[in-house]
Amino acid sequence: MGVESTTNDIVKMPNNGHKSELKNQKKKKLLLPSTTSGELTRTWKIEDSEDLYRIEGWGKPYFSINAAGHVTVSPKGDRGGSLDLFELVKALKLRNLGLPLLIRFSDILEDRIERLNACFAKAIARYNYPGVYRGVFPVKCNQERHLIEDLVRFGKPHQFGLEAGSKPELMIALALLDTPGAFLICNGYKDRGYIETAMLAQRLGQTPIIVLEQIEEVDLVIAANRQLGIKPIVGVRAKLSTQGMGRWGTSTGDRAKFGLTIPEITEAVKKLEQAELLDSLQLLHFHIGSQISAINVIKDAIQEASRIYVELAMLGADMKYLDVGGGLGVDYDGSQTNFYASKNYNMQNYANDIVAELKDTCAEHQIPVPTLVSESGRAIASHQSVLIFDVLSTSEIPLDPPEPPKEGESPIINYLWETYQSINQENFQEFYHDAAQFKEEAISRFNLGILRLKERAKAERLYWACCKKVLDVTRQQEYVPDELEDLEKIMASIYYINLSVFQSAPDCWAINQLFPIMPIHRLDQEPTERGILADLTCDSDGKIDNFIDLRDVKSVLELHKFSHQEPYYLGMFLNGAYQEIMGNLHNLFGDTNAVHIQLTPKGYQIEHVVKGDTMGEVVKYVQYDSEDMVEKIRQRCEKALEENQITLGESQLLLQTYEQSFMRYTYLNS
Ligand SMILES: *Cc1c(COP(=O)(O)O)cnc(C)c1O
Repeated sequence: MGVESTTNDIVKMPNNGHKSELKNQKKKKLLLPSTTSGELTRTWKIEDSEDLYRIEGWGKPYFSINAAGHVTVSPKGDRGGSLDLFELVKALKLRNLGLPLLIRFSDILEDRIERLNACFAKAIARYNYPGVYRGVFPVKCNQERHLIEDLVRFGKPHQFGLEAGSKPELMIALALLDTPGAFLICNGYKDRGYIETAMLAQRLGQTPIIVLEQIEEVDLVIAANRQLGIKPIVGVRAKLSTQGMGRWGTSTGDRAKFGLTIPEITEAVKKLEQAELLDSLQLLHFHIGSQISAINVIKDAIQEASRIYVELAMLGADMKYLDVGGGLGVDYDGSQTNFYASKNYNMQNYANDIVAELKDTCAEHQIPVPTLVSESGRAIASHQSVLIFDVLSTSEIPLDPPEPPKEGESPIINYLWETYQSINQENFQEFYHDAAQFKEEAISRFNLGILRLKERAKAERLYWACCKKVLDVTRQQEYVPDELEDLEKIMASIYYINLSVFQSAPDCWAINQLFPIMPIHRLDQEPTERGILADLTCDSDGKIDNFIDLRDVKSVLELHKFSHQEPYYLGMFLNGAYQEIMGNLHNLFGDTNAVHIQLTPKGYQIEHVVKGDTMGEVVKYVQYDSEDMVEKIRQRCEKALEENQITLGESQLLLQTYEQSFMRYTYLNS
C-alpha cells in the first residue's frame, strides 16, 4: 500500500479550480522521443511498454505485464495468484462470450474492501483512537446485483454497510444488507414513504440512519415518529464552507444542491428538541464531491466537520457517528499528483488525516470520539472491472513515399517537393507553414480550374509527407512549439473499435474523464503507430482522443500496427465505478456481456455470466415488438414474392436472418 508519509509537500490548489487550471498543475507536455526514428533501433522490451502505458502507476498491485507481453491480473493484490488477461479473453471467447466484454474480478473488490478497512484500522491503532471505523458502500456507484451481493459478503467481517441515495437504492439495500450492526445510510431526497420504510427497517434488526438533506425532511421524520412510534437514528448533512475542487467542486458551499446550511442545522436541532427527538440526532455527514485530488481539501473539510460535530454534541445531540462521505480518489494516470485524473495522497494518508483530526478535536472539547463512517464508492469499485474490446479496422493518412514532380505539372507541386526535400532540424517550423500554404494554394487553384484532380492528389500527398517529416523532427525536440502540438493528433491513425463510448465509458464523453487504455497483448513489440479510437456509433463525439500521460494528457495513444489476420485487443481499466449505470443506448448499442471471475487454487472460475442486451431487448426498450416487426417483414416478403421481386430462397434467408437478429448481440461479430 505504498508510502505512509504525511503529504505536506503538496501543491496548494486554488479553491474552486476548474479543469483548465488543474491542467496547469502538471508540467507542460514533453513529447516522448520518437521510437521509430533515425537512431539505432534497439529491441523493444516489456519494460518499455510498462513505462509507456504507465501500468505500474495506475495498476499496482492488480495489473502488470508478463514475459509473453500480455497484461496479467493479480486479483488478490499482493496476496498472490495471477491470470493472463489475454489468455482469459481467448478462453471466454471460446465460451461464446463475444467482445466487447466486461470482466469483473470479485477478488479485487474484496481486496479493495480489505485495504480500506486495514488503512483505518492502522490509523486507529497509530493514533490510539478510542473508536472504530464502519464504512458503507454508496450503491449509486455500481448497483449491479452480483457486485452488491459480493460487497455485502466481503464486508461482513468489517460490518461494512450500504448507502442509498434514492428510493430504489433503498429497496436494494434493505433486501441485500443482512450484516448485523452494519449501517444503512439513507441519503438523497426523501418523501414520507422513504422515511417510514427506513424507520420500519429497524424492526428487522437493521441500522438505518436517516440523513437530513433538506430542512423539510425534519418535519417528515417527526411526523413519521409520531405515527409509527419508532425512534429513528437521524443524521444531518452539512453544507461545509470548505470548497471541493475540480469537476464536483460545487458539491459544497451554501448554494450546493444538498445538505443543510449552518443556520438550517441549528433550526433542525431546535425542531428535534421541541419534538423530544434531539437524542435521535446522532450523525453528522458531509460529502465534498467525488475524486478529490488534493489532500489539503480533505484536511480542511475534516477540520470544519469535526468542529461542527463537537458543537452539535455540546448542543445536546447524542452524537455518535461522523460520516465523511465519498471523494477518496483513484489515480487514473498514476502520476500521484493533484491533477484531476490523479490524487496526491494514498488511502493510508486519507485514513490518518481523518482519524488524527477527530481524535484531536474531540479531546480538546472532551467529547467522546465518533464511530467513523466513510462512503467511498470510486475507490472501492473502480479497479474490479476491465473492459475488453477489439479493433475492427484502421484508417491512416496516406504516406507512400512521394514522387518528384514531372514535366508539365503545376509549379505548386514543385514548391511542395522542394519543401519536402529541405525540411530539417532548423527550419521545420517555417517549412511546415510553407507546406500548409502551398496546400491551400493548390486547393484554390483546383477550385479555379487551374489544377487537375490528379495534380491535387499529388499535392495533398506531398503535403502529408511534409507533415510526417516535420512530425519526426518535432518528436526529437525536447519542447514542441505550441502551433505544432496538434500535428500528432492530425497525423494520428483512427482505430475503429467495437464499442460504444456512450454505453461503456460515458464519462469519457460527458466529462472528459481519463481511463487508462492499452493493448492487452503484443507488449513485447514496439507500438509503432499513434492513434485515436473511434467507436461504433454514428456520432462524431463517439471517440476517445485523450489518454493518460505522465505530464498532462496526450492526444494520441501508441498502438501496434493492426492487421486483419490477427485480433487486436485493447483494455480499458479502472472503469468499475459509475460507467455502467450512466451508459446509454445511443444508436441502440446495449449493455455489453459481463462475466464475474474468481481466482481458484487451480486457475479461475466463472462465477456468473451476465449476457449483454440482444437486439430484441434494445428495440423493446423503445417500445417495439419484435414479433410485430418480423410479421411486417414476412408480409413484405410475400408481396415481393407475388410480384416476382424476390425468390423464395432469398425471402427465406432474409426472414431467417431478421428473426434471429433479435436474439443477437448489438455489437459487431469479430
Ligand atoms: C456519490 C456519493 C458518494 C460516493 O463518492 P465517491 O467519490 O465515488 O467515493 C458518497 N456519498 C454521497 C452522498 C454521494 O453522493
